[in-house]
Amino acid sequence: MTNPDAFDQPLFNFFDHGALVSPSLPIDEVVTLLHTEFDLEVTISPLGSQQDQNFLVTRPGDDAPYGVLKVSNPVFSDSEIELQNTVSDHLATTLPDLRVTTILHHRNRPVSAWLNTSEGRRHVRLFSYLPGGTFTQTSTLTGFTMARMGDIAGRVSQALSSLVHPAASRTTQWDLRHARRALETIPWIGTDAERALIDEASEAAWATISAVEAALPQQLGHFDLTDDNLVASLDSLPLPDGIIDFGDVANSWAIAELAITLSSLLHHENVSPKDLLNVVRAFHVHRPLSEEEVIALWPLVVLRGAVLVVSGRQQADLDPDNHYAATAQGREWRIFERACALPPLVMTTLLREALDLVTVPLEVPTTTSLLFSTDSDSVVILDTSVTSPLNDNGAWMDAAIVERAALEALDSGPALAVVPYDAVVLAGSPPLSMVEPATITTGLTLWSSTERALSAPMAGTVSSTSRGVTLTAAESTIDLLGALATLSGPVEAGTVVATVPAKRELTIQWHSNAVANVPTKIPASCLSGWHAVAFDPAPLLGLTPHQRPHTNTLLERRGIVLAEVQEHYYDQPPQIERGWKEFLIDVNGRVYLDMVNNVSSVGHSHPRIAEAANRQLHLLNTNSRFNYEAITNYAEQLSATLPEELDTVFLVNSGSEAVDLAIRIAMAATGRQDILAMREAYHGWTYASDAVSTSIADNPNALSSRPDWVHTVDSANSYRGTHRGPESYRYAEEAVDVIRDLVAAGTPLAGFLAEPYFGNTGGVALPPGYLKAVYGAIREQGGLAIADEVQVGFGRLGHWFWGFQEQGVVPDIVAVAKSIGGGYPLGAVITSKAVAAMYRTQGYFFSSTGGSPLSSVIGSTVLSLIEEERLQDNARIVGGHLKRQLEDLATKQPLIGTTHGSGLYLGTEFVRDRTTLAPATRETGLICDELLRLGVVMQPTGDFQNILKIKPPLSISTEAADFFVQALHRVLIT
Ligand code: PMP
Repeated sequence: MTNPDAFDQPLFNFFDHGALVSPSLPIDEVVTLLHTEFDLEVTISPLGSQQDQNFLVTRPGDDAPYGVLKVSNPVFSDSEIELQNTVSDHLATTLPDLRVTTILHHRNRPVSAWLNTSEGRRHVRLFSYLPGGTFTQTSTLTGFTMARMGDIAGRVSQALSSLVHPAASRTTQWDLRHARRALETIPWIGTDAERALIDEASEAAWATISAVEAALPQQLGHFDLTDDNLVASLDSLPLPDGIIDFGDVANSWAIAELAITLSSLLHHENVSPKDLLNVVRAFHVHRPLSEEEVIALWPLVVLRGAVLVVSGRQQADLDPDNHYAATAQGREWRIFERACALPPLVMTTLLREALDLVTVPLEVPTTTSLLFSTDSDSVVILDTSVTSPLNDNGAWMDAAIVERAALEALDSGPALAVVPYDAVVLAGSPPLSMVEPATITTGLTLWSSTERALSAPMAGTVSSTSRGVTLTAAESTIDLLGALATLSGPVEAGTVVATVPAKRELTIQWHSNAVANVPTKIPASCLSGWHAVAFDPAPLLGLTPHQRPHTNTLLERRGIVLAEVQEHYYDQPPQIERGWKEFLIDVNGRVYLDMVNNVSSVGHSHPRIAEAANRQLHLLNTNSRFNYEAITNYAEQLSATLPEELDTVFLVNSGSEAVDLAIRIAMAATGRQDILAMREAYHGWTYASDAVSTSIADNPNALSSRPDWVHTVDSANSYRGTHRGPESYRYAEEAVDVIRDLVAAGTPLAGFLAEPYFGNTGGVALPPGYLKAVYGAIREQGGLAIADEVQVGFGRLGHWFWGFQEQGVVPDIVAVAKSIGGGYPLGAVITSKAVAAMYRTQGYFFSSTGGSPLSSVIGSTVLSLIEEERLQDNARIVGGHLKRQLEDLATKQPLIGTTHGSGLYLGTEFVRDRTTLAPATRETGLICDELLRLGVVMQPTGDFQNILKIKPPLSISTEAADFFVQALHRVLIT
């Protein structure tokens, strides 16, 4: 309902009004107005707003909010209110998969009108309430939440690009086209030092924008798609899917839509400018940025931060009771500060890279002389990279190893030891960190065998800083970190300006004058930005610049040369080139916690395994038909871990081979062909092991493509299977019936094969007594019981060394692999002498490298380490602690259905609903990707891919387990 009187009102112009004081109608009056004007019976409670008056509206007898009532500031014209409604209606229609707040109707008419109030004529509107909450109060944000915000902003911008409206030419202080004027006119409340920071940053930003201003497209936009106005979906993970608050709708530079969204994310604890690159990418998909928009984007983020600070303080001062304005101030300053944390040129280069735009590098400035001259033959370049032997045996955990290596190198005669520019320095990169480490050098670090005098390579001005000595020249600056100044002020090229003592660390940085205080090391994701402004100082010493290849085509090469079906973890996996204990390290020196790797049972790169393998390779490695001690030692050691009757060992190279052989042994021993297996299992890729694998996650056609010798029983999953909880005893009865029916039908079985603790469904214990009943029935009809211990055996379950022990049974044949080789290919089948003997009917058994000297020695070392380092105990203790932590997390996070498992074989299962158990498949994928961003390697498992496959090296520490839980918590709360 519009008021004809209001049509003549001019469009709002902030610069005619200055700051606005929100309307302040008493609650009672508003309730009465709603009743008399709209026949609405409601209760209302105040909500925050900077310039309007907002209320949350509920209806009697309904706890859920009904709507949001907005009393508009009287300075806004009717036409502007109509503009806002047009835009919200347009978005609701054109983006139907998003929730958009729109005007509610009551008794067939919109709840929207100009009303006479105690404060005069006021426009009152009732918007639909979008449940889900916003993100402002969330301390951290996930990558997927932020990317979704970019996606929404891009879609909104695209949807509004063709809309025109006469009121769109209104003038608000939030229109970044007027940012400079807003900053000049809004009175400053704060210290001079703060103001100086604002002025400096905003002038520089404005200068950059002015250069491209004419080419920036303008259009209608929402221009307030912030963490406060994007509403989380009601799905189990808080992904934004709702849009509220059309108060800032107007015409402006189209790119301001994105700048405003980006800046709103910067106040969150874990968000720095580089974390926003994915948000920009997501926007760009829908609304591609032009060259000029890329140039203007970051300066606009800085300006938005400045305007937020300046107007936020003014508003709080003007309207002291406005709690909303008061609490926003800390956030606003943080936004401004973080926007300035990376020099705009650095950020813009990163943005260009993110959008695949070419950046022409700055030309290296000319120099007339050297810092000091040196003989390049007398220079040792240190290899600090991830693959450098310097970092072996966990030495990388100590940052001081680089300096020690440099000084050691000098002892053998060279003049200089150097860590070059653009080198990856792994040493000191922190394990258990959710933040990408700074590992790549922006300068050159050297240690000299003698004291050196450092001359100015070009004319400039010398000054001492807390970090050392700086030479500022016309085009560039040289920082000599760790040097001692010999003079200050203007100097000619060739003048000695500083010294560095013998064997003292000196870092030389050489950078454009557009930046200052260049960090000595930067994270890999910021590399292109910083390297665009920081030059390689090698030529200042007469040395050749460092060449490190920067095109990462590894994944592409892999895709070309490896079969496509041989999949890899993650769409964009990090390139992992080193492991240590429970850690994996990528080529950029980021240390990840490996929570998924049961193959590396005793921990990555265990020195004892490396030594044993090295020694054996120096002695003998050949096929297993020779007579050597290692194979016998290992077989004895292995069978000693099993019940007495399992005394005969076959050695192979993998789990698939072990299962395959186990099946063939059962067939040979019984003279029968038919095998019974459990559904939803995975047993391997060879013909026989694949035939008994029915997990649809591994092969969608698994069940329909079974050969007719394979029969299956229901997956005995007491959590989400056919029979749950106390009813799960039925699985055993049914399996026994299947066996009897098969016998009755003339197909007696050679054997029954299952994981004795169900690894493939996330580590679900079989129902109590299950294997007793099924093994009994299979033996009764003359078949054998086969346990696939490839995943769950060998101490991983903590309480039991073998999975079958949990069920109190002894199988006839055990197949095991993976962890028994500590990452080396090794598998084994263990059975009784009598059963093994019957395999003779198949000829003889031979696997060339199965049980080779090397395999056997590694197998023996793994077993000894499990014992000596008490790794089964560690699995029980740390695994128990981890499971309790995950169960505790489940009390706060409804997405966690349960955590299955024992020891260090756990499976946290995500469900959208704890009653229906609807699997949270998509969410689990997002969670795994986000965990990687936080430094944790984790993968989904199960037929629905909705279970975290938690099976870290058995040596994992409690601290690392806690880190995993904290990371998971962080993903789930945001
Ligand atoms: N059995 C089970 C239970 C497994 O999980 C796997 C591998 N995931 C295998 C057998 C096959 O082992 P491999 O990959 O070593 O051939």
